[in-house]
Amino acid sequence: MKRKNYFLLFIILLVLISGTYFFVERVNKIETISYKSFVEELENNQVERVILSDSPQIKAELRNGERVLTDNPRTEDFKKELLLYGVRVEEAGLGLKEVLIFLALTSGLIYLVYFFKNKVPKEVEKEMSNLSNMEEVDYDTRISFKDVAGNEEAKESLKEMVDFIKNPEVYNQYGARLPRGVLLYGPPGTGKTLLAKALAGEAGVPIFPVSGSDFVQVYAGLGASRIRGLFKKAKEKGKSVIFIDEIDSLGKKRRDNQATGSEEGDRTLNALLAEMSGFKENDGIIVVAATNRIDVLDEALLRPGRFDRQIEVQLPDINAREKILRVHAKNKPLAEEVDLRKLAEETVYFSGAQLESLLNEAAMIAVKDQDQLITQEHIGKAYYKVLVGDEKKDRSSLSHKDREITAYHEAGHALVAKLVSKENRVTKVSIIPSTKGMGGFSLNIGPEKMYKNKEDILNNIKIALGGRAAEEIVYGPDQITTGASSDLEKATEMALSLIGLYGMDRQSGLISYNVLLSMDLKDEIDLVNRAREILEDMYSETKNILLESREILNILAAGLLEKEVLEENDIDEIFSQEFAS
Ligand code: ADP
Ligand code: ZN
Repeated sequence: MKRKNYFLLFIILLVLISGTYFFVERVNKIETISYKSFVEELENNQVERVILSDSPQIKAELRNGERVLTDNPRTEDFKKELLLYGVRVEEAGLGLKEVLIFLALTSGLIYLVYFFKNKVPKEVEKEMSNLSNMEEVDYDTRISFKDVAGNEEAKESLKEMVDFIKNPEVYNQYGARLPRGVLLYGPPGTGKTLLAKALAGEAGVPIFPVSGSDFVQVYAGLGASRIRGLFKKAKEKGKSVIFIDEIDSLGKKRRDNQATGSEEGDRTLNALLAEMSGFKENDGIIVVAATNRIDVLDEALLRPGRFDRQIEVQLPDINAREKILRVHAKNKPLAEEVDLRKLAEETVYFSGAQLESLLNEAAMIAVKDQDQLITQEHIGKAYYKVLVGDEKKDRSSLSHKDREITAYHEAGHALVAKLVSKENRVTKVSIIPSTKGMGGFSLNIGPEKMYKNKEDILNNIKIALGGRAAEEIVYGPDQITTGASSDLEKATEMALSLIGLYGMDRQSGLISYNVLLSMDLKDEIDLVNRAREILEDMYSETKNILLESREILNILAAGLLEKEVLEENDIDEIFSQEFAS
């Protein structure tokens, strides 16, 4: 290596190190709490350590190890006050770490500016794109369409492409223009990556998987040169599949053709478009891109000769879920009792990735329990983990009162769900807190159908409000808790959609909110007041529903307090007994 290159390496290392530091900082993201709640913590002797500084916010560490940020009061005797509460107080200065990072960053930046101002010699650019080489040929071409369950339309469409890749000559003879790019779009975890791999696998060619975010670079021109490097490598291999995940991170819509967006992003995008149109007629290279959000993509990507095939990949329906479960159950020792059809019924809105993870978690739990077979119980625990994260192990800190409130809250959701429609199933209610801060949950499944009607939406609003309503009925209007915040989010969203998206509210008429927004008539909209009225109405109806069945609410809550989790058959039993008598 030449001396220049050593220096380059050094700089890259420095930037990487400081990059990691910031990354670590961000991962340990600290929660910000209000000064008021900080003082409460202080008075409860919950504050361990505070780092004083001049910045608008100060850091504190609580006795439970949690770190928080709060507003800096900047009062004279703040420190004295802290000390009197027995808090360890430290004054922040510029630590060695900060100084080093600062130096590293500035020298790195200065060098890079210098580096790119003095035209980059071709070899160095090459070296640079090789050095930061993330693209790797994945020769694992054993994945086939059989490994992808469901997604029939997507598979059909891709099967056609297998032939394009295998026999481009035939198409050339007939002068057919083959698609260059395929865009797979749909929610995360639905098998887009898997489909791309299966395409390469079936065609028997290598795949070059990259992510759009790999190309978003701080240094000017590097993203574009990486794109060129990637295509060069693919061409050297001949027939192949290039897979670009998260294409939206490099192909976001440019606003009204103004140069407002990032110029760097545009350059990378242009390089990609140039490479794609630069293919020789049909040489058997297909670019597959994936995104969760087709709506934010730059239209330039979707024009003919680019990603002109767009294939939607959806969340699996019940049959697809069953198939996916079967695919991933194949190599696992499941107990007789495990019914995959039933499991498929209970996993509405699960993605393929979540289903895979469900069985995998269950297998891990079975190993830990040293059981021979994976049982329904293992799956139950795994289900919880996939849905809400780990169960909180230490529940001793939870007071009896907290558990009781959660029990009534969740029982409220469950009860309303069962009472508003016979078609609703409640498959699980739990008051086990999760590490992600959830107190519990109630899982209800409505019938699977193409269109929701107005009644369905209103019922769902009532179910969402059921938790708060139960709290108010049991503990009184002044004792309602913060536990309903995400319920209210859902309810508000549903009420607003009902009015502004679906035109289902007589009083608000058939006006579409989206159109008003697009025509800059935001001020003309009065959805908020109407939505509030609807929510109020639904809330009082919900309270009435619960009051009429107050008896069952108590039974459900008591059951939860005793067992922590109620399964569908427990719940149905309670209902059948109550309604029989
Ligand atoms: P995406 O690219 O859409 O985010 P992936 O293809 O990365 O999703 O899916 C992640 C994992 O989930 C896959 O490796 C596979 O194990 C599982 N999976 C997702 N969808 C399916 C499916 N339709 N059939 C079988 N497994 C699937
Ligand atoms: Zn709730």
